[in-house]
Amino acid sequence: MVTKTYKIDKDNIKLPLIKEVAHILCEGGLVAFPTETVYGLGANALDIDAASKIYMAKGRPSDNPLIVHIAHKEDVEKLVTNIPENAKLLMDKFWPGPLTIIFNKSEIVPYGVTGNLETVGIRMPDHSVALAIIDEAGVPIAAPSANTSTRPSPTKASHVLEDLDGRINAIVDGGDVNIGIESTIVDVTSEIPVILRPGYITKAEIEQVIGLVNIDKAILNNKNADSFIAKAPGMKYKHYAPRGEMLIVEGKEENVVCKINELAKEKIKLGKKVGIIATEETKDLYEDGIIISLGRRVDELDITRHLFNTLRELDTLEIEYIFSEGFTNDSVGQAIMNRLLKAAGHNIIKV
Ligand code: AMP
Ligand code: MG
Repeated sequence: MVTKTYKIDKDNIKLPLIKEVAHILCEGGLVAFPTETVYGLGANALDIDAASKIYMAKGRPSDNPLIVHIAHKEDVEKLVTNIPENAKLLMDKFWPGPLTIIFNKSEIVPYGVTGNLETVGIRMPDHSVALAIIDEAGVPIAAPSANTSTRPSPTKASHVLEDLDGRINAIVDGGDVNIGIESTIVDVTSEIPVILRPGYITKAEIEQVIGLVNIDKAILNNKNADSFIAKAPGMKYKHYAPRGEMLIVEGKEENVVCKINELAKEKIKLGKKVGIIATEETKDLYEDGIIISLGRRVDELDITRHLFNTLRELDTLEIEYIFSEGFTNDSVGQAIMNRLLKAAGHNIIKV
């Protein structure tokens, strides 16, 4: 299959191109497109055959559900059995935006999209290109991240092509994404809502709108995550893992820098290729290895935006050992640490 590339500027949308892309989706094809979080791999969510192609293209386990994307808040109604009061408040506050809400699914949503669950995750993305495509297609669009399973989520069109060129019908290149990590997922089907995946919208922001929410144990208890059955099935899989062996070093800044310098020297002495994931505040303190700054620690968006690209870059550079600084486990830092820990296979030391 030849993957066709469409370049669409999010500030100057050309409707004829959107129509072409929407047509591919309506015909049961696969189209990758940008959202504000990461690039998604879209298919008609109501067409079981189309959705099953997503699993094949990504090599995704079939019990890992897909998030359904809509272009208008009202579109949620026919996909769910009911909209709890909590969900209405969250939709009003955060949609369009990086929040996926889990509802009880209605009959029209195929089990092939929900990984056989009775629930469905739905989100309205905050990206003009994504919204135009979904609107024009006129159907809800199932769209997981447009990477091959286990690789870091794509934040640029080139990442998508790296993984899926020749396996999907088309890609819409709308430039780099803004946020860079996947949506926060909140399940409102239980009495006390539960955050199943941390993201750019934080627990505190959600609690300001609907009061107390819990966090899934699989997120909190990072070290033992594998011994918990994650409620968001995707959370249990190996993810984001770079090919090199990765270790996170957590603690006071000066101790972290000192320890990473020591570990890097050890590996370099053995002839190994070492990468260091640093920040603008610390990058000049490292002495050896290939140092990549995620951005300014004080600016969480700067960090999230560069995180997955950095993990991919380390692979391109064929780095064998990766040492990364840690992040505080609150606010957006919790989402950053969640992705880093998965990338490192929960390999972490405190100094
Ligand atoms: P991705 O779109 O690649 O970020 O993956 C979507 C993730 O959302 C899945 O891996 C699940 O962890 C989660 N998810 C989607 N639908 C549901 C659902 N109905 N219940 C729980 N988690 C879900
Ligand atoms: Mg994904």
